[in-house]
Amino acid sequence: MEITKFEDLQINENIKKAVAEMGFEEPSPIQAKSIPVILEGRDVIGQAQTGTGKTAAFSIPILEMVDSSDKSLQAIVLCPTRELAIQVSQEIRKLAKYMHGIKALPIYGGQPIERQIKALKGGVQIIIGTPGRTIDHIKRRTLKTENVKMVVLDEADEMLDMGFREDIETILENVPDERQTTFFSATMPKAILELTKKYQNNPEHIKVVRKELTVENIKQYYIETRSSNKIEVLSRLIDVYNPKLSVVFCNTKKGADELVGELQGRGYFADALHGDLKQVQRDIVMDKFRNGTIDILVATDVAARGIDVDDVECVFNFDLPQDEEYYVHRIGRTGRAGREGISFSFVYGRDIRKMKDIERYTKSKLIKHPIPTVGDVE
Ligand code: ADP
Ligand code: MG
Repeated sequence: MEITKFEDLQINENIKKAVAEMGFEEPSPIQAKSIPVILEGRDVIGQAQTGTGKTAAFSIPILEMVDSSDKSLQAIVLCPTRELAIQVSQEIRKLAKYMHGIKALPIYGGQPIERQIKALKGGVQIIIGTPGRTIDHIKRRTLKTENVKMVVLDEADEMLDMGFREDIETILENVPDERQTTFFSATMPKAILELTKKYQNNPEHIKVVRKELTVENIKQYYIETRSSNKIEVLSRLIDVYNPKLSVVFCNTKKGADELVGELQGRGYFADALHGDLKQVQRDIVMDKFRNGTIDILVATDVAARGIDVDDVECVFNFDLPQDEEYYVHRIGRTGRAGREGISFSFVYGRDIRKMKDIERYTKSKLIKHPIPTVGDVE
């Protein structure tokens, strides 16, 4: 069964009210296909590109399933990064806005564990955790898994890429067998299918894919420019297109820091997000980006994975990614929820071959963009 309207779902009216308030007019294809199946109690593998609403696809059934009068842990959502854990918990909280007695808590490394322990003591039914910290709590018995009825692996492909396989297995072995297990992912590598065989029970594989791996509402440009000229080209593009928010990707932390220094020196409001920063610093940067205090986020791949900030209008591949999959993840930071987005990839010399690989992989074509002249700026 596939639903066409949220009203058709047999769920708590308070969830529907929140969904409407969040501006979701109709379910996205992955939501339409997977929510009814999860509500039936089946295990699901949900596969759809980034930005297609996978979070609500599992969060709505979780909220429907959780018993608010029972304060024990009932659902575990595993995410690859701290930022994602925070983001997913924010979405769950929004969806639960009109429900009473439901507590969802993100738990991730970097934040003092004592604070999380204290918060957990208050009774939390849903945790959204990174794998390492989740195991930590299970071992300390600050998370008790006896009543867990649902486990979700969000961005499963990314978690496996990041080497969380063993941690994920440990967690799945420490929850009751009588549970529902759902995996959500943009791609479906073999490692996920292996996990499926081991930990899911006759899952339904729900796949919403288009031929192109990249979203069609993103204009993809490339610009040929030497390294020494990239900062100048980036500044001109930002001046010409004047994006509300943009994300600039660098391949190294050092490169990201240097670029931020250069941009700040030119008067732009930019900051860096990469793995060397402490959690508090990362949170501060993300807050500044979300509220527009900075409008250019310079990021490395791992730090930026899955980040969903509305109003990112441009993505720049200041360095072309080494891996085609990263390209897809990177440009997926723009063009979210059906909006328009633009991506620019800076290439030179050897990059051209890499770019051809990317085009083959994404089954799309990058359009050549001229270097804007200063005169183009208004
Ligand atoms: P994914 O996990 O598939 O990458 P997200 O769950 O992060 O995608 O959703 C991307 C964006 O789309 C979010 O801003 C989310 O609030 C929004 N969104 C989700 N579902 C809908 C919907 N049915 N209608 C409109 N916007 C939606
Ligand atoms: Mg997601």
